Amino acid sequence: MPQNNLSAVLYGINDLRLENTSIEEPDDDEVLLEMGCVGICGSDVHYLVNGRIGDFIVKKPMIIGHESSGTVAKLGKNVKNLKIGDRVAVEPGIPCRKCNFCKEGRYNLCQDVVFCATPPVDGALRRFYKHAADFCFKLPDHVSLEEGALLEPLNVAVFACKRGGIGIDSTVLILGAGPIGLVSLLVAKAMGANKVVITDLIESRLAMAKKLGADATYLLQKDKSEKDVVADIHAIFGDAPNRTIEASGAQASIRLSMLVTKPGGVAVLVGMGAPEVQVPLLSALCNEVDIRGVFRYANSYNDALNLVASGKVNVKPLITHRYKLEETKQAFETSRTGADGAIKVMIHCK
Ligand code: NAD
Ligand code: ZN
Repeated sequence: MPQNNLSAVLYGINDLRLENTSIEEPDDDEVLLEMGCVGICGSDVHYLVNGRIGDFIVKKPMIIGHESSGTVAKLGKNVKNLKIGDRVAVEPGIPCRKCNFCKEGRYNLCQDVVFCATPPVDGALRRFYKHAADFCFKLPDHVSLEEGALLEPLNVAVFACKRGGIGIDSTVLILGAGPIGLVSLLVAKAMGANKVVITDLIESRLAMAKKLGADATYLLQKDKSEKDVVADIHAIFGDAPNRTIEASGAQASIRLSMLVTKPGGVAVLVGMGAPEVQVPLLSALCNEVDIRGVFRYANSYNDALNLVASGKVNVKPLITHRYKLEETKQAFETSRTGADGAIKVMIHCK
């Protein structure tokens, strides 16, 4: 096995360095992975640019990256679900397995979760990385390592659509056509939604949404009144959407999700923006719009993998840029600036 373990280490704001780190020995219930692909997420870029997300602060050097896949290179002695050479998708958060949230299956709410590249926990953007074997999902031969890495954002969408109770009677408005909004579109369609409409401020993102199968798109214009926007969206649906998925984190969009949703419907909040925003709560309350938050995902990796393996969801068009591990800085620059229509930037570690 080569001893090189080139790793992308974030030292602080705008200080990302490529350096060799030691290859860790897997514990009894872990596997060592030779990393295949790592996608760049908005949160990775946020840590690079701001050094923190809320209370999570990069105080010491941290290896970045959490949307990942790899090939099993070494097995801990208790591992039975995998063998050397298996290609796997990595579910990046390991919960404590002992608290009541964990026992109830809502392990995304575990207060002691250890999540890749959320400070101070090291992430997966390196040549070799070890992970709990039961949080690695074996990919069938026809599912690529790139698709394996994309299962991570896809899981957010699967979980959001489950939280929203999306089904054949759903009319869904998705707010924001970034990677999360776009995968939510794919999953909502795959879960049988009757109609899916998506909004954004950027025309090129809506063009991608159209390509991915949106029934309609709506370009938000900043100077238009909230009331007019609501009327426009209702006109597109011929009614009010009974489900909205907010995937931008912008206050204007969170407000819209509450105003535009049909009485008795559900507004799913995925976007993470300012810690406090002003919302039309009375309107949501009087219309009995259920507001449901989403924090990552739980118990959805198999579902996301099945969607991809069965061909019900095609995540490949989301990848607009590919880089080698050695080109990590350029990769982050492309993701940060959105240059050249960047949506999902994928790094190949091998
Ligand atoms: P992104 O920044 O790439 O995409 C956001 C999109 O929203 C952009 O295309 C932007 O143009 C658009 N937008 C901005 N203001 C808008 C507005 N007022 N109305 C409609 N669209 C607007 O981000 P992403 O990677 O797609 O992630 C989306 C959000 O989801 C982020 O806030 C991210 O932090 C959050 N997120 C949450 C979870 C979770 O567990 N809840 C997981 C992953 C991501
Ligand atoms: Zn727990």
